[in-house]
Amino acid sequence: MNILIKRDVCVGCGMCAGICPEVFIMDIGGKSCVMELSESEVELCEEKIRECADICPVGAIVI
Ligand code: SF4
Repeated sequence: MNILIKRDVCVGCGMCAGICPEVFIMDIGGKSCVMELSESEVELCEEKIRECADICPVGAIVI
């Protein structure tokens, strides 16, 4: 699974980092970014990652 954050679109609401902190982290600029994870680590969080993509208010998470 590839995860892309459209950083020019992210409004920094923090919902993704709140739901799935194993994958998403807020950077010092207040935008979400994706942690460096192995494919197996990503697979463990797949359901939450899909939830984050669904609830992002601006559709900034692309999987
Ligand atoms: S949910 Fe979307 S807008 Fe909010 S921090 Fe995450 S990527 Fe950015």
